[in-house]
Amino acid sequence: MASRQAHELTGWAAGIAAAAWILHREAAGPYHVWALVTVVAGYLGGTAPDWLELIPWRKGKRWCTHRTITHWVPAWAGLLYGSNLGLPGCWWCAPLFGFAAGGLIHLLIDWPNPRGVPILWSRHSLNLWKSGRADSFVVVMCWIAAVWVFDYLIFGSVHFHRALSLIELA
Ligand SMILES: [Zn+2]
Repeated sequence: MASRQAHELTGWAAGIAAAAWILHREAAGPYHVWALVTVVAGYLGGTAPDWLELIPWRKGKRWCTHRTITHWVPAWAGLLYGSNLGLPGCWWCAPLFGFAAGGLIHLLIDWPNPRGVPILWSRHSLNLWKSGRADSFVVVMCWIAAVWVFDYLIFGSVHFHRALSLIELA
């Protein structure tokens, strides 16, 4: 797996992108509280596939094999899809959406490692790098993606276009 720290940092990024979606769907509630809860839920989801494997009262013991059922892509994708259906009416769908987004990002960054993740019926790996080798690259890419999503959904990409024109001027 990528390091826990990488999963935490990409979880925050997923939470921010998910919160932008919550704001966009007008499901943020009073004082944007559900959007803020969604950011935290994204962070929790970012590490969830790993901690959901553990038995809380038995230190270091797992109830299932590492990277199996808790890393199953359809489960997390289904959670994301289902929670989105509940928006904007159901308030707890917002944090659930953030949690699912964090979980999916977790799977995405476990995918390039040799061990891979269970996509449908079998395990698949992109086999790009060993565990933890490309952490900084992965974290930076996720944050760029999150900022882009936020800018797109909230500001209609105005900052993105401004950045592009600056590059063109240079
Ligand atoms: Zn994992």
